[in-house]
This record gives sequence, structure tokens and C-alpha cells, in this order.
Amino acid sequence: MKKIIIAIDGHSSCGKSTMAKQLAKEIGYVYVDTGAMYRAVTLYAMRHGMYPEAGILEEALKADVDADKIQITFKFNPETGRPDTYLNGEKVEEEIRQMEVSNRVSPIAALPFVRALLTEQQQAMGKEKGIVMDGRDIGTAVFPQAEMKVFVTASAKVRAQRRFDELMGKAKTQEERDALNYEEVLKNVEERDYIDSHREVAPLRQADDAIVLDNSNLTREEQSAWLLEKYKEIVAKC
Ligand code: C5P
Repeated sequence: MKKIIIAIDGHSSCGKSTMAKQLAKEIGYVYVDTGAMYRAVTLYAMRHGMYPEAGILEEALKADVDADKIQITFKFNPETGRPDTYLNGEKVEEEIRQMEVSNRVSPIAALPFVRALLTEQQQAMGKEKGIVMDGRDIGTAVFPQAEMKVFVTASAKVRAQRRFDELMGKAKTQEERDALNYEEVLKNVEERDYIDSHREVAPLRQADDAIVLDNSNLTREEQSAWLLEKYKEIVAKC
């Protein structure tokens, strides 16, 4: 069967990665979480003192990007059934999901030189097709020629609740659980939506030829079934 490119874009915390990962598994495609790449660059900037409270030290970050000092790779983890993210050889999968990173990632993702770097890497990953990639600009900027494009959304409150539940589930101690706050998660989701949709380079928007899925009232199983059905319809016509 012909291999295609599947682009899944949408708002923060709308379950894109869960459904993208599941589809990739079912059809034997490679799954790429591009949000993890922007998160890894953010973590790099935070660790190197390039992201103090006052804002991003753009010149310092650009110098390291230009000097090829930020290597992001993925390695499949058979235990979780999904790829882990590595920053310069170190596994950072858990760290990049923390609120500290979520709160800082969108301004980093708005920097043109960061987008240029990651877009080029993402295009290289999709060269052979057979890929499911999720993000904000996959169907509009990274692979505008993708055979299948899905734009996923849900209300901000539903998304914040899902994210909050996920973070709760991952928290290992009572202290970590006490530190979590639904209102803060909601604020983060809304802020990221705003910054992602209003940046100059590759803003979050629905591609004209994308199929829209509002999954506010769907279970994981229902949305996965919907996605697989759409894939079958599209690939049959390719
Ligand atoms: O998908 P996730 O929520 O992990 O993405 C984190 C952030 O990375 C987003 O809020 C957005 O600012 C940025 N991002 C992006 N373009 C992508 C993927 C993610 O700008 N293709």
C-alpha cells in the first residue's frame, strides 16, 4: 500500500499526540511529536541561562543553534510503546513535560531561527513518507503537500482538565500533586493558544484542506476509530 504523510495539528492538550501515536502503531508508521522538539529547545535555553524571568536571550540561543549545539533525537521505548526525546544524548522525556517548560515553550517556538531549524529536521524525517507527525504547523508549513491533514480541537476547559489529569497521574509525590493547580493549567493552555495563533512565522491555523475534529465529547477509543477510518478512506484514493 502507498505510504503517505499524515499531519495532525491543533490546539494545546487536545489529545493530538495520543491519537497520532495510536494511529502510527496501528498502521506501522513512524510517529513524530514535534512539540517535544520545541520543548527540548526550551529546556536547553533554560538550562543554559538563556531564559531568565526577563525573557529569552535570543542572540545567545541563536549562536548555539548556528553552532549546531542542540541535537534532538528520538529513540523508541518498548516499555511505553512510544519514542522518548533526547537532548544532546540525554533522555529528557519527563523533564520536557513539566509545567516550567510548558510555561516557556511558546515564545521559544515563535523565534524564526528555532522554527527554521526544527522544520528542516522534521522535513528530513518525513522524506520516506510513512509518517504521522503532530504539531501546530505540520499541514500548513512543514508538509503542505501531506496527503492527510487533520485539525483537532476541543474547548479550552476540556483540554485543561485532560492536561491536569495527566499531570496528576504522572506526579510521584503528594508534594508534586499539591503543587498542581487547574487554574494555572487552564491559563497555560489559553496563553499557548494565543501565542501559537498570533506569531508571525507558521502560526497555528487550520489548513484549508484539513479535516476538522472537535473531540470535546469523544472518548479516546472513539477518536482513534474515527482517525483510522479517515486514514483508510484517504489511502484508498491515493
Ligand atoms: O504539542 P505540545 O503542546 O507539546 O507543544 C508545545 C509547544 O510547542 C506548543 O505550545 C507550541 O508553542 C510549540 N509547537 C509549535 N509547532 C509545532 C509543535 C509545537 O510551535 N509544530
